[in-house]
Amino acid sequence: MTEPFTCEFCNKTFSNKNNLDTHKKTAKYCLKKQGKEIPEKKKFMCDSCNNNFADKRNLEKHKEICASYIRKTEEEKRENLIADIKNHYENQIWKNEQAFSKIQTKTEGEIFKYKQILSNIRNLIENGEEITLSDIEL
Ligand SMILES: [Zn+2]
Ligand SMILES: [Zn+2]
Repeated sequence: MTEPFTCEFCNKTFSNKNNLDTHKKTAKYCLKKQGKEIPEKKKFMCDSCNNNFADKRNLEKHKEICASYIRKTEEEKRENLIADIKNHYENQIWKNEQAFSKIQTKTEGEIFKYKQILSNIRNLIENGEEITLSDIEL
């Protein structure tokens, strides 16, 4: 039985047109003959440095060492902290020691640093100055 549909690029034959069309779009050797790029499988991309990884585990591993991902995460943390501090300030929580220490600090050292940051922020706000990331460095 002859197959009536022939791929004009690689001469492979098919019994119906659908199979031929699929072949022309997906067969790697045929795509090469057509001079087309081989479509790549959906990859796992680090959205910070745009590197691709074959699987999710490799991507997760990479993120632990990816400088731009770490930087981005740190910046997000700080942004959150700024929002947090502004919120505390607006709610006057910094005046309430107990509520304040419950918020997110765990160690004495962290509480101490956090208090410093808050008083710094309070000064900045009272002086009508902009709060920058370096003002709230923990
Ligand atoms: Zn072909
Ligand atoms: Zn990365």
